[in-house]
Amino acid sequence: MSSTDTQTPADALGPATTPALEVRNLVAGWGGVPAVRDLSLHVHPGEVVALLGPNGAGKTTTLLTIAGILRPIDGEIDVLGEPLGGASAHQVARRGAALLPEDRGIFFQLSVAENLRLHRHRRSEVTEADIIGWFPALEALLDRRTGLLSGGEQQMLALGCKLIADPKLLMVDEMSLGLAPIIVERLLPVVRRIADETGTAVLLVEQHVHAALAITDRAYVLNHGELALSGTADELAQRPEVLEASYLGERTLDHE
Ligand code: ATP
Repeated sequence: MSSTDTQTPADALGPATTPALEVRNLVAGWGGVPAVRDLSLHVHPGEVVALLGPNGAGKTTTLLTIAGILRPIDGEIDVLGEPLGGASAHQVARRGAALLPEDRGIFFQLSVAENLRLHRHRRSEVTEADIIGWFPALEALLDRRTGLLSGGEQQMLALGCKLIADPKLLMVDEMSLGLAPIIVERLLPVVRRIADETGTAVLLVEQHVHAALAITDRAYVLNHGELALSGTADELAQRPEVLEASYLGERTLDHE
């Protein structure tokens, strides 16, 4: 593996900062067959970190495992300072971790406001007004049936439904799926703003690599289930040839 990883501002805070997410030597997969091997990564509070890589690289498998939906085959995962252990998806969610899946996880028959109400925890400090603050376009749509919204509006609502539960760790799986690039370019900066304003740690799987690097602090690139590259978003954005090679799985990277 080649790594251009350097200290990020969050890392520079030193050991006093507990990562919101720490993955060590993870092996994860389906039916006992590994799709991800020996993966280590971390995300600090307030950081936005991208998990990149070509189709089938193991990004969704990684998120599902962290979220307690798939059992790890080997390795360790600490979510919000506690080992994952055998925690169920429900228990991981109760700790304050939220996964926004590719299919958005919203109820299309219900209105926008009903979806938000359904996702709000009693103890959450985030209100409907906060969500409208981040996504003003939702205000006029509160009474509309979710199935009638555009793809971009649905994705704003899907994010809003996760955020209204006040997560400390937010994992987002290909938010941009099916959306026009211009919508993606509008939505991603809101994710950055949310992390900055709330201190939520964000792990973002995204196919729009350059749009992702524009709003993230660091990125990890998976290829065929293995870490091919990691580094700060600035470093990776400035070295597109290295990034491209890591997508192609070129071994020359080992000697970078
Ligand atoms: P994409 O960008 O296409 O969503 P990805 O990086 O998220 O890809 P994964 O979906 O994690 O990749 O897939 C990693 C490997 O696990 C692939 O070989 C895939 O075929 C396999 N896989 C994914 N889902 C399942 C499943 N439900 N059952 C068995 N194997 C699966």
